[in-house]
Amino acid sequence: MYKCVKCKKIVQKLDEKTRCPYCGYRIFVKLRAETSNKVLAR
Ligand SMILES: [Zn+2]
Repeated sequence: MYKCVKCKKIVQKLDEKTRCPYCGYRIFVKLRAETSNKVLAR
């Protein structure tokens, strides 16, 4: 699971070319208990 850093919506599935389906933003935060790494999907 990923969270868009712009609109804060949850995106369940994300591949390399996917943008946020809600706002089109391309930076996401990985939703895991331990780490939260920013992922740039291009
Ligand atoms: Zn978004």
